Amino acid sequence: MPRRSQQSSSLCGANVTSPGDQNVRYHVHIERSNNNGTSLRTVLRQIRIQTLDACGQLQAARSNIARKHGVIVLMLHRIIPDGQMHQCRSPRGMVLRESGFRALLQYLRAETDIIAPTDLSHTRVRSERPQVLVTFDDGWADNYEVAAPYLAAFNIKACFFVVTAYAGCSHPFWPEHVLWLRGLTQQTHRSDLWKSFLESFHARSNNRPRPEIVSGSEERVLSWLKQFSAAEILERVDEALFRLDPTLDRIASDPYERLMTWEEMRSLAKQGHMLASHTCTHPLLTHLGGRAVAEELRNSWLALNTKVWQGTGSSAWISYPNGDVDSSVQAAAQKAGYRYGFTTVPGVWPGRCESLSIPRVNIWDGSLLSSDGTFNENSLAHTLFWRPSHATWH
Ligand SMILES: [Zn+2]
Repeated sequence: MPRRSQQSSSLCGANVTSPGDQNVRYHVHIERSNNNGTSLRTVLRQIRIQTLDACGQLQAARSNIARKHGVIVLMLHRIIPDGQMHQCRSPRGMVLRESGFRALLQYLRAETDIIAPTDLSHTRVRSERPQVLVTFDDGWADNYEVAAPYLAAFNIKACFFVVTAYAGCSHPFWPEHVLWLRGLTQQTHRSDLWKSFLESFHARSNNRPRPEIVSGSEERVLSWLKQFSAAEILERVDEALFRLDPTLDRIASDPYERLMTWEEMRSLAKQGHMLASHTCTHPLLTHLGGRAVAEELRNSWLALNTKVWQGTGSSAWISYPNGDVDSSVQAAAQKAGYRYGFTTVPGVWPGRCESLSIPRVNIWDGSLLSSDGTFNENSLAHTLFWRPSHATWH
């Protein structure tokens, strides 16, 4: 029985192509930019990055981070084989295609000092290159099946933050289901169903979907839906899908839309990676009461200790679901024994001390690919160095 949580992380768009496979009636397609479909925003971003590079700003940001011994903590979610991108239902902002991941690791090996999770507490080494730590959120099966072999090939140790209560479960989070519905309603020209799906939430709240929500970007829609429970969202998705097509096969064609099993997690640990907490059920921690927060923190730690570390050690790291954290949650994490807490706030971490609010840099296709889908070093440098160094130093 699939288990589902209340949240997912980065939220970007996805749309749907026409069905082309006899075995899979509908395909969700990650929109690939091309010369005909490049948005104005993308063009402006490329011009801006080229200008920054020409002015030496990208190199200056990189050197500044290295000089200050800053640590760039990367946040990845899903690594999908290029040929299966069309099957992936996750928000675009949490998907990096396999070829992009390989290019990322090649770049990191050549241009940065990659630190292992176990070395995080003593990172202030003399180097002219920025220090980088690689982390993954959620514990998707593709982390094990697709990403881990590349990490081994490049001799990179990473930290995998996992949702312990859903280990091994398929289709665990609601955003994939919502984007699936949205894509199908677009494909079948049933915008009325999409609108009534959103308006159905009005019955139980006074937060009526505004027009910009109904026709807005997927990121905006998913952000708006976070105010409702996962159970309610999924129930309404099912109702809408049934109205769309009662015979619809709901099984996703993405073979990686499941979370890693405990056996797979143990295998990663044996390879030298760190397995750490992303809570038990992926809730927004600031929306919970103190006791529920404490249980999420404690029980996820206990599950990892029992099923992965098996009493041999403890990482005591946590990534807050959706980066949702405040001073109360930090205090609870500290009380539960966590030493390092990771957010989704972009920035550079000085790496000088234990911290429960370490910033991270989200990496997805748009972070390093040009509009034609090829690796763009300047785009990645902009993502890795310029943007974090112009955000905040924590
Ligand atoms: Zn997450």
